[in-house]
Amino acid sequence: MIKVTVWNEYGEKQKREEVAKVYPAGIHAAIAEFLDKEKDIEVKTSTLQDDERGLSQALLDGTDVLIYWAHCYHDKVSFEDSARVVDAVNRGMGVIFLHSAHKAKPFTGLLGTSGYLEWREAAEKERLFVTEPGHEIAAGLPLHFEIEHEEMYGEPFDIPNPEATVFIGWYKGGNVFRSGVCYTRGRGRVFYFQPGHETYGNYYLPNIQRVIVNAVRWASPRTHASERNSCPNVAPLEEI
Ligand code: ZN
Repeated sequence: MIKVTVWNEYGEKQKREEVAKVYPAGIHAAIAEFLDKEKDIEVKTSTLQDDERGLSQALLDGTDVLIYWAHCYHDKVSFEDSARVVDAVNRGMGVIFLHSAHKAKPFTGLLGTSGYLEWREAAEKERLFVTEPGHEIAAGLPLHFEIEHEEMYGEPFDIPNPEATVFIGWYKGGNVFRSGVCYTRGRGRVFYFQPGHETYGNYYLPNIQRVIVNAVRWASPRTHASERNSCPNVAPLEEI
């Protein structure tokens, strides 16, 4: 079983009426609901209001893949909280950053760049193109698909050159964006996926759910948790 934790800041701004009518129990609950239908995935949720901002060591130790949605409260996650996430990824935990997590401390901490991008909130159409049809995260998807309403995130996106760019997004307003990008950090896998503004309900779309389910499997650890200690003292391989 792949143990997934869906983390959402879920502050007051995500509980206001405009958002609650789309995601009554929060984005984390909506994502957990479709993941829970997968036989190989065991899912739980956490938020900023939980112990250690919902990113405690105990929680991370029991997580194979962390899904991270954040928008307005990046400052509430401390550098210490972020360092636990970064360390867990380096030791093998997978992480999927969604939408405006591009400015979250664990994102910038893992990638080492600012995450700056251009944006516009105009409920415009986005067309996502699969740029690596053979990639595990693109399995079962059409070569391009549309989202009727999404917040525009546009280039330049200040990220390191991705190891794989699985999706490129085009918007009605003319901008383009590297919407789905992959990295390896230490033993862990990192995926960023752009759609998911809180007032548009795009986590209910089958193609978006397919991307996230595929990404969970892709990001799941290749090593057992017990093998993930960072700096073991080892015996020589040959007589010295
Ligand atoms: Zn947004």
